[in-house]
Amino acid sequence: MLKAPARPTRAPSIEAPLVEAQLAELHRAMRTTFGPRVASTALAEAGRRAAAELLRAIPLPERERRLSLPRTASTAMLLAFLRRHSGRFAAERRFTARGGTSPVLIIAANPLCDPPTRGERVCAWHEALFETLFQALVSPGARVRETTCLAQGDAECRFEVTFEEG
Ligand SMILES: [Zn+2]
Repeated sequence: MLKAPARPTRAPSIEAPLVEAQLAELHRAMRTTFGPRVASTALAEAGRRAAAELLRAIPLPERERRLSLPRTASTAMLLAFLRRHSGRFAAERRFTARGGTSPVLIIAANPLCDPPTRGERVCAWHEALFETLFQALVSPGARVRETTCLAQGDAECRFEVTFEEG
């Protein structure tokens, strides 16, 4: 008689970080199962939540102070923060960024991206994560768009930040 497979004695803790391979599999499975558009909506929401989690490291008065700084200064501080925490959204050394008035964030060999067969940009999770952080720490009018993506055959996933005035 076959024995039932042993059940894990405890569910994995939700506090335990997912390893990169598991996370990548989850992102790909969502795109494959639900299609890229529905998956994008869900992954964007997950990206906003991941950003909220990262923001907990910065006290609210400090976030408000940064929003009042010149945009290039608060951008430089956010990019330093992202470099320090790049293990949360890209492996170290895969993340590079340029500040100034038109910031650009680049993830080389993005582990959460698809192979170059999709023919479209798929990194809604990163887009939402970066946009939420820019809106909270640089300007509420910040918008982040992925402009090149491994999944559409580009060399890297590149995210450009623009600012709506107001
Ligand atoms: Zn991408």
